[in-house]
Formats: sequence, C-alpha cells, structure tokens
Amino acid sequence: MSISLAIENLRICYGASVAVPGISFIIERGSMTSLVGSNGAGKTSILRAISGLVPAQGNMILGGHPLHKTSPEARATLGLAHVPEGRHVFPGMTVLENLKLGAYTRQDRQEARLVDEVETLFPRLAERRHQLAGSLSGGEQQMLVIGRALMCTPKIILMDEPTMGLSPQMIEVIIDALDRLRKQGFTLLIVEQNAVEAIQMSDMVYAIRLGALVDHGPGLEFDVDRLTAIYLDEQAKPHDLSGET
Ligand code: ATP
Repeated sequence: MSISLAIENLRICYGASVAVPGISFIIERGSMTSLVGSNGAGKTSILRAISGLVPAQGNMILGGHPLHKTSPEARATLGLAHVPEGRHVFPGMTVLENLKLGAYTRQDRQEARLVDEVETLFPRLAERRHQLAGSLSGGEQQMLVIGRALMCTPKIILMDEPTMGLSPQMIEVIIDALDRLRKQGFTLLIVEQNAVEAIQMSDMVYAIRLGALVDHGPGLEFDVDRLTAIYLDEQAKPHDLSGET
C-alpha cells in the first residue's frame, strides 16, 4: 500500500469552539475516498485544513512532505488541488482562460495537452471553450472547476460537494467523470452528501460525526441503510483509526 496523504490527530477550532477534536486517517495513492456525515460534522473544515485555508493542529503528510506550517500556495505546488463547494469560476474570463489559470504552478509547456485531456473528459467544455464562464450552467461550471484543478496534474484532488444543486442528468455526468478519473489513477478525496453512487464507488469511506470517525469501510459496503444511520447519527460511536495506519 502506498500512502498519498496521512492525517494524524488533526484538530480544528473556531475560537473556543472545537469542530474537529483530533482525527486520523489515510488516503491511499490512486484511490477515491469519501468523507460522509451530516451537516456540521466537520467535512468541509477537514478539507480546508488540508489545503491550509483554516488553521489546524496535528500532522498532515502529502507524498512524504509535511504540510504543517506551509502556505496554501506551497501546498498547491506540492500537488494539492482543492475544488471547493460553490463552483468558483472567473465569470468574465472564457472557459479556456479559466482552464489555463489552473496551470499557473507549472514550469513546463504541457498546457495544450492538458486542455485536450480536460476537454476529452468534458466534451461540453470544448464546445464552450471561447464562451464566458459566467454564462455556463451550474453543471458546466462544475466541470470547469474540476477541469481547472486537473490542469496542475495534482497528486491529490479534494472536492467539496461536487454534485450539490445539480440536475440528476448533470449529477450522472460528474459521477461518470469521477469514475473515469479514479480509473485513470488519480487520488481523490470527496465530500458527498447526496450522490450515493459516488460514495459507493469509493475505495474507502470515512464517516464523521462531530469531527470524529464513527465508521469506515469500502464504499460497496455502504448501502442506503448504513448511510442513513450515519446521517441520522444512529448507532454512531466515535472511534479513531490512528492505530490502523
Ligand atoms: P456541511 O455539510 O453543512 O457543510 P460539514 O460537515 O462540512 O457540514 P463544517 O462546515 O466543517 O461541517 O462545520 C463543522 C463545525 O464547525 C460546525 O459546527 C460549524 O458550525 C463550525 N464552523 C464551520 N465553519 C466555521 C467558521 N468559519 N466559524 C465558526 N464555526 C464554524
């Protein structure tokens, strides 16, 4: 087993309020991992702490590099890409310009090849490449932010609620893209609330309640009843996986 990202005793506080008291888990290289849990469980906070967007205590090691005390920009350079909730595109720039912004950490001349790869994953972006990003539908904007993250050839991609607010048809497109990325060997850490298929295709699911792990296992083992129990906080007793890494 090869570890892409190791999280050890991650603790996140907002002032006096403890959102995540100390969580440990690992992400295997080339795997898709889902974080699940009800609203306020701490999923977004964990993604933001990994990216350095909120202060946190504990150890985070990406491909052998300790992330603690590194800036969000340095983490991006180390290969960490974050697709936050809310589809943040640059609305006054074209689809192509938005994609190229994702390559800003690159020192090579691979931009055109990477644009091709993104457009193969999302042909809709090729059709819209000279259109302003602000004129895209919500689903197309979601394709664009995922595509922009791929432009830096990330070692790991964090995605927060990639299907939130999308039509059932668009949800299928995004889930299909996640499946293809997983099969191509990308390492994905996803927060999903609604798309059961995305959770079930994950190599590992970590369920969180009040910032603590309450369940984990391969996605295929998470049927609707088990997920419902997690979201309803039933039978959920916090435990830690630090001894299992
Ligand atoms: P959701 O699915 O609703 O986004 P979540 O699992 O992602 O939930 P977080 O958004 O990480 O959970 O929130 C975890 C806890 O931290 C919650 O109690 C929330 O109120 C609190 N919290 C999150 N952001 C802040 C903030 N900026 N200031 C204060 N408290 C916050």
